[in-house]
Amino acid sequence: MRPVPSDPLSDLPLALGGLSRATEERARATLLPDLLADPGTVVLDLAGDAMPVQATAGGDLSVARRPPGPEDAERLALFLGRDDAGTAYVAVVHPTRPEAQAPWQTLRVVGERLDRVDAGLFATASALANWHAAHVRCPRCGAPTESAHGGWVRRCTADGTEHYPRSDPAVIMSVLDRHDRLLLSRGATWPERRFSVQAGFVEPGESLEAAVAREVREEVGLDVGEITYLGNQPWPFPASLMVGFTCRTDRPDLRLDPGEIAEARWVSRPEYLGALASGEIITPTGISIAKRIIERWLGHPVPTSPLP
Ligand SMILES: [Zn+2]
Repeated sequence: MRPVPSDPLSDLPLALGGLSRATEERARATLLPDLLADPGTVVLDLAGDAMPVQATAGGDLSVARRPPGPEDAERLALFLGRDDAGTAYVAVVHPTRPEAQAPWQTLRVVGERLDRVDAGLFATASALANWHAAHVRCPRCGAPTESAHGGWVRRCTADGTEHYPRSDPAVIMSVLDRHDRLLLSRGATWPERRFSVQAGFVEPGESLEAAVAREVREEVGLDVGEITYLGNQPWPFPASLMVGFTCRTDRPDLRLDPGEIAEARWVSRPEYLGALASGEIITPTGISIAKRIIERWLGHPVPTSPLP
């Protein structure tokens, strides 16, 4: 049996950031008007889950940057931070995709080909914009809220209460048996052939490890132990933080919840590579922690399958 490396996952694609968030600047009331009046500010456009993305000279991709325009003052703007040179980055959120010089792309599709700064900017802007879109009313009194603090707060227009962006913690875990086989499953709503590891949201009052054990029991009917942390990254679809684990089971007999899991199977490493090569299964999305968890078990990276 090949030993599985014990070091936590590092350099997850959406976890690297690279920009200072400059949180001390957010409270200044004129921050966004000042930045949007400064031609040195870098503006990124966001509409839904997409940004304009262009090719770089080196053959990779980068998020399109532009200077501020007069119409930006009318839009939701989000202060993302400053780079090492002190340049400020602001995302401007559009209700629909305007004409752009580069094609609109989603983070899911292009994230693997962005550098860490751009992947971090895209992930942060998406998660924050998703939160704004879902919190237009005050949870205390129902009055409209408005953006404040550079886009990092929504303030109630009636009672003045301040509401902060949230991340929803979710656990994602490889389940191994005593022969080092990996459990792969396909979610009930997923396309054919897309198999991944188990995952689920953490409930209130629950630890991360307890969520791992509960989700595995609910979805595939297994009791697991040796729950070991691997790494985490933001997952802005719409606003999760994915926390990765691996765990083991002594008794690999599956009992699937058909509402959640369409099919599940145990695979050895040669079986996984064979199924990938034959096209019988496809990998999780390239930027996902799921793919990295599988590769850690496998012992080496595998090419990302095209999106179906
Ligand atoms: Zn209120």
